[in-house]
Amino acid sequence: MSKMRFFALRELANRKPLEVQVPSENLCDYYASHVFNDEKMQEYLPREAYEAVKEAIEKGKPINRDVADLIASGMKSWAKTLGVTHYTHWFQPLTDGTAEKHDSFIDFDQEGDVIERFSGKLLIQQEPDASSFPNGGLRNTFEARGYTAWDVSSPAFVVDDTLCIPTIFIAYTGEALDYKTPLLRALSAVDKAATEVCRLFDKNVSRVYANLGWEQEYFLVDEALYDARPDLFLTGRTLMGHSSAKDQQLDDHYFGSIPPRVTAFMKDLEIESLKLGIPVKTRHNEVAPNQFELAPIFENVNLANDHNQLIMDVMKRIAHKHHFAVLLHEKPFNGVNGSGKHNNWSLCTDTGINLFSPGKNPEANTLFLTFLVNVLMMVYKNQNLLRASIMSAGNSHRLGANEAPPAILSIFLGRHLSMVLDEIMQKDYRTHASNKQKTTLKLDLGRIPDILLDTTDRNRTSPFAFTGNRFEFRAAGASANCAAAMIAINAAMAAQLAEFKASVDKLMEEGMEINEAIFCMMKEYIQTSAPIHFEGDGYSQEWKEEARKRGLSDISSVPEALMHFDDAQSRAVLMGQHVFNESELQSRIEVELEKYVKKEQIESRVLGDLALNHIVPTAVSYQNRLLENLRGLRETFSQQEYDELSADRKELIRDISHRVTAIKVLVREMTEKRRKANHMDNNHDKAFSYAEQVHPYLDRIREHIDNLEMEVDDEIWPLPKYRELLFSK
Ligand code: ADP
Ligand code: MG
Repeated sequence: MSKMRFFALRELANRKPLEVQVPSENLCDYYASHVFNDEKMQEYLPREAYEAVKEAIEKGKPINRDVADLIASGMKSWAKTLGVTHYTHWFQPLTDGTAEKHDSFIDFDQEGDVIERFSGKLLIQQEPDASSFPNGGLRNTFEARGYTAWDVSSPAFVVDDTLCIPTIFIAYTGEALDYKTPLLRALSAVDKAATEVCRLFDKNVSRVYANLGWEQEYFLVDEALYDARPDLFLTGRTLMGHSSAKDQQLDDHYFGSIPPRVTAFMKDLEIESLKLGIPVKTRHNEVAPNQFELAPIFENVNLANDHNQLIMDVMKRIAHKHHFAVLLHEKPFNGVNGSGKHNNWSLCTDTGINLFSPGKNPEANTLFLTFLVNVLMMVYKNQNLLRASIMSAGNSHRLGANEAPPAILSIFLGRHLSMVLDEIMQKDYRTHASNKQKTTLKLDLGRIPDILLDTTDRNRTSPFAFTGNRFEFRAAGASANCAAAMIAINAAMAAQLAEFKASVDKLMEEGMEINEAIFCMMKEYIQTSAPIHFEGDGYSQEWKEEARKRGLSDISSVPEALMHFDDAQSRAVLMGQHVFNESELQSRIEVELEKYVKKEQIESRVLGDLALNHIVPTAVSYQNRLLENLRGLRETFSQQEYDELSADRKELIRDISHRVTAIKVLVREMTEKRRKANHMDNNHDKAFSYAEQVHPYLDRIREHIDNLEMEVDDEIWPLPKYRELLFSK
C-alpha cells in the first residue's frame, strides 16, 4: 500500500471522539456571549450612542463621527472582557468565503506612548489592501481602491482574539465588490414593493422583512485520508474513485445514529455557533454516508446570511480540532448524493404577519393568495435569473443528477393550494358579481387555511416548493453564498410586486373595486404562470419532456446559465430595482465566468497530474508484476497448460495497457484544449471553451482510472478509496 494511504488508515484506526464540555447547563448563560447585541449595547454604550445605533438600524440614519467614537469605545470595552486584542472588518468578497484583515488595537498617542485605540473612524470605514479580490474589471481602469463600511444591521462578534465587524465592500466609485451590498439593496427593494402591496390591505404595515432559514449540508472526511487525496484538498471533490460496493443503497445512514466522533464535532460546533448568536437547531444525518445537515432557526436574510458565511468558517475550524475535514463542495463524490443548501424564504410584515402563511379570515387569505400568486409569477418570469444565481462549477454536478432539483425551475404548491388556485380560475371577476357572490367568494377562501400547515404534502423533487409558511429554494449549492440566490429572489419579487401594484391601481382607476381588481390580476397571473406550476416528480424523464413542451428552460451548461444574468428580463429586474448598475452587473458576470474557468482549469490540471504521476506508474508496476507472473508460469508449465492458465492474465495485461495508453493520450489532448482555452482573450469564450472542450475529458479520463482501480492490486493503490473516505468513523 502506498505510504500515504497506509499512514492515513493507521491514524484513522487510532482516532477517538474528543471530550466536549458544555459551558453551562443553561443555554441562555452562553447564547450570544460573543456578540455585541442589543443587550451588550445597552450595557456598554452611553444612551446617546445606543439610540444612534438603533436609529441607524431601523431608519438607516447615518451615525456621526463623535457618536461613532463612543460606539467604538464601548465595543472595545466589551471585547476586552473576552480577551480581544485585534479587530477586523469582516466582508464577503466575490470569492468563496469571507475575508478579514486583522489589526491590533495597538497605537501611539500624541506623546508617542503605546496605547490601545479603536476609534469611530476605524469602526465605520477602512481601506483594506484588497486589490487582489475579484472585481470583474470594476477597479482595473483608474481606481484600485476598495473600501469596507460598517453594516450596522449585523452585530459585531468575537472570534478567538478578534473583534469582527460585518461590513460591505465597495469600490472608490461606490460600486459593489461584494455580496452584501447588492443583498441589502435587494432587501430594501422588496421591502418597499411588498409594503405597498400590503398597504392595499392594511395601512398599518410600514415595513416588510425577508427571512431566510438555510439548511447546510456537508460531508465529513477524516483529515488524514483527506490529506492523502490531492484532488480533494486542491479542488474540494474527488476527481476519481470507483464507487464503493456499498454506498447509500440501503438508506441506512439517513436513519442511522450519528457516530460518536461526529457527535462530538457537532456538539462542539453547536456550542461555538450558539456563542456567536447563531440559533442552530437541528442536526442530522443526510442521505449519503458521512453526510450531515445543520439548520438554524430562520432570521432576517442579511443576518441569516452572515451567520451562514460565519458558520462555514467555524465548521472548518472545529472540524480540524476533531481531525475531520469538512467538505462543502456540492459534489465531492460521484454516485452518491451531493450537498445543497436549501434556502427557506418568507416575507413578514412589521405588524407580525407572515405573508406566506395562510390567514385566519378572508382578508388575510386574500393577502396570502396575493403574495403566493406573485411568487408563481416571479419564478415563472425569472427562471433564468434564479438559475444563474445558483449555477457554478460545483453545483452543476448536482443539478439534474436525480438527487437534487433539476436544472428546470418549477414550483410545487401541494394539493390544497392547487385546488384553491383552480377555484379562482373558475370565477369571473370582471362581470359585476352581486354582493352575495362576493361574500361567497370570500367565505370560500376563508376555509382554506387550517388544514394547510399540517397537510402540505412534501415534494422533495421540486426546486421551489411551498412548505406551509415559506418557500424552499432547493437548488442552491452547499458552498454558495446564500446572498446570490437571495439577491435574485428578492429583487425579482420586488419587481413582480411593483408590477402587480401598478396593474391593480390601473384597474381601480378604471372603476373596479379593490378586491375585484386583486382577484382579476391573480386570475391573470395564475393563467400566465401555469407552466411553472408542477406537482409531479421533478426527477423524471417525462418532466424534462413536459417542461420543454411548456416552454420552460432547461440549461445545464454553466456559462450558458450564467449569461442569463444579462438577458432582458434579468437586466430589467436587477437594474430596475437598483440592485446593480450596468457596470456592476457586467463585473458580476465577469467574476462568475472567471471563477468557473479557474475551477475547471484547476480540476483539469490536478486530474492530469494525478493520472500521470500516481495512476499510470501504479498501473504499470502492477502490469510488470503480471508479466513476471507470466514468465514464471511459462517456465513452470507445458505450453498447453501455460496457454490455458495465462489467458485471463494476458487479457488483464492487455486491458491495463489500453487504459494506460488511453489515459496518456487523453491527458495530452486535454492539455492541448486547455492551452487553447487559456489563450482566449476573454472570460466568456474561455468559459464556453472549458465547458465544451475541456470538461468532457474529466469524465473520460476518470472512467479509465476508476476501472484501473478495480483491476490493480488494492495493496499498491496510491489513493484512499471511496469505501475508506465514505465509511470512516
Ligand atoms: P425541513 O423539513 O425542510 O428539514 P426544517 O424544520 O428543518 O425543515 O426547517 C428548515 C428551515 O426552515 C429552518 O431553518 C427553519 O427555521 C426555516 N423556516 C421555518 N419557517 C420559516 C419561515 N417562515 N421563513 C423562513 N424560514 C423558515
Ligand atoms: Mg428543507
